[in-house]
Amino acid sequence: MITIDPSHISTSLDAAYATASALTGGKNADYIPYLAGVPSGLFGLAVVTPDGQVHERGDARYEFAIESISKVLTLAAAIEEVGPEQLRAKIGAEPTGMPFNSVMALEMHDDRPLSPLVNAGAMATASLLTAANADERWAKILAMQIRLAGRQIRLSDEVNTSEQTTNFHNRAIAWLLYSGGNMFCDPMEACDVYTRQCSTLVTAVDLATIGATLANGGINPVTRERVLKADNVPPILAEMMMEGLYDTSGDWAFQVGLPAKSGVGGGLVAVAPGRLAIAGFAPPLDPVGNSVKAQAGVAAVAKALGLNLFRSA
Ligand code: GLU
Repeated sequence: MITIDPSHISTSLDAAYATASALTGGKNADYIPYLAGVPSGLFGLAVVTPDGQVHERGDARYEFAIESISKVLTLAAAIEEVGPEQLRAKIGAEPTGMPFNSVMALEMHDDRPLSPLVNAGAMATASLLTAANADERWAKILAMQIRLAGRQIRLSDEVNTSEQTTNFHNRAIAWLLYSGGNMFCDPMEACDVYTRQCSTLVTAVDLATIGATLANGGINPVTRERVLKADNVPPILAEMMMEGLYDTSGDWAFQVGLPAKSGVGGGLVAVAPGRLAIAGFAPPLDPVGNSVKAQAGVAAVAKALGLNLFRSA
């Protein structure tokens, strides 16, 4: 672990928060009705370090829908259960280069999802967990969210209802996966559980804690619990580097050089292995689905602290 001077983290956060706050672009997601109604002016940033320091600015304790970032946590649960090789063989580790809910991406690859971080791959990943029914499958996923965040994460009935009553596109994807032999439980069960995993409420501090657990080799720096085997962390981070920011994951790697994951709820978390994690939350999204302010804020902190993984020390 490399300790970064806390005052350096603090000044970087101040500067990043000021710069990103001034941005005005983007628009709340509205294909899920709940998300359209979240106040657009909210903005929070948080950093959590492997030794458990928590730094936060702005609306870092506001609870919002985790959405796509939940894919990383379900991936973690599945890798713990089946191991990295099974995961790679059954789901994949390639960027799709297509939108997160693309049917064409499936059509082009024999109904294989390619990545656990797109909707198809996330539903297939949820289906890999051994469970007798939807509630058992859900319990495993929620338990992983709670252990990674180190806090009593809960499902929002309001978000879940909003998603379950509008997720027809995802149901179609689930059936396509099933028809191609790439769904490992009942497809509607996988879609239901996936929809619930997107509908829990987290804060920027939670996201930074989840990221810091990955930065810390699988040990949650706040609770000190070993949540993941150390060997299971690098494959999770590799998936985040490949497909963490929708179809601009390559741009993010090029400009920031850190594994990260965003969600249409406006959250984003980036992981600097052995150093820290940075998270941001602001609802307005760019055209591919990444929070405008969270991207700018997280990238500015990463740059100020010299965290690009591809830079030699
Ligand atoms: N629940 C959302 C969906 O399935 C999550 C999408 C996202 O954040 O990328 O469309």
